[in-house]
Amino acid sequence: MPTLAERCRGIELLVLDVDGVLSAGGIWQGAIEGQMPAPLEGKEFHVRDGLGLRIWREAGKDAVIISGRDSIVVHRRATEVGIREVLQGVGDKGKAAFVGDDIIDAPALRLSGLGVAVADACTEAILAAHHVTHRPGGRGAVREVIELILRCQGKWPSI
Ligand SMILES: [Mg+2]
Repeated sequence: MPTLAERCRGIELLVLDVDGVLSAGGIWQGAIEGQMPAPLEGKEFHVRDGLGLRIWREAGKDAVIISGRDSIVVHRRATEVGIREVLQGVGDKGKAAFVGDDIIDAPALRLSGLGVAVADACTEAILAAHHVTHRPGGRGAVREVIELILRCQGKWPSI
């Protein structure tokens, strides 16, 4: 079994779930009277995940988000932090770190080069993962993963 550091060394691509990973999982919904059916929808993202993703990109690495739910808020956040959105399949699984939180993430966690469950992930995700973060989803877990990988590769910026 490869160690955590060994798994981190080869990672070039970060694959992120949105709800429960980049956000804490909350989905705010509102509606304006007379404007049915389009509800107003919002999610809260963490500022340190945003900076972490910019550092990740500056290290020459790629990041994508897998979103099951189509959301304008997610499109906007992806553009802001310079990441792409994909709906399925990532090619070179060995070079990918996948971060997830729920039961549907378990296969991807198992198959990726580095499978990471956030601290408040469900039991199935935690059991499938190679590593569990200290921080919960939407509260800097993604930043923690980026820092872990880049430190293992000697690429975390020194200030
Ligand atoms: Mg999720």
